[in-house]
Amino acid sequence: MSGGSGGRCLCGAVAFSVRGPLRDVLDCHCHRCRRFTGHHMAATSVATADLDVRDPEAQLRWYRPVEDAGYGFCGRCGSSLFWRGGDTPDSTSICAGVLDPPTGLRTVAAWWVGEASDYFERSDLPEHTTEP
Ligand SMILES: [Zn+2]
Ligand SMILES: [Zn+2]
Repeated sequence: MSGGSGGRCLCGAVAFSVRGPLRDVLDCHCHRCRRFTGHHMAATSVATADLDVRDPEAQLRWYRPVEDAGYGFCGRCGSSLFWRGGDTPDSTSICAGVLDPPTGLRTVAAWWVGEASDYFERSDLPEHTTEP
């Protein structure tokens, strides 16, 4: 766990700061996260109430491929930023690569490896075929 950090998209239109503790990073290889990120989702998570988004030009967009999941991205530069589940709106996943380093976080597990693409080289992380 870490805290007191923040991050931004590639162009800087969407920035955020985090007040509360950040969960360690989980990799998600599900087909949606794979396409959203172009590889796999490596995400931390924070209480939504502890996330302050600064988006003065209203560039943050949400794409909802299914009713219970939303992917947040910058409408100008396309950076993958957030994920939020419809049944868990109190927490927001943050794509770990958009956090300003050092994050103090570590990657602890891989989810949905059953949907990983064939080029993906397996790590020695604890793996789950779907989600635990
Ligand atoms: Zn941007
Ligand atoms: Zn996923």
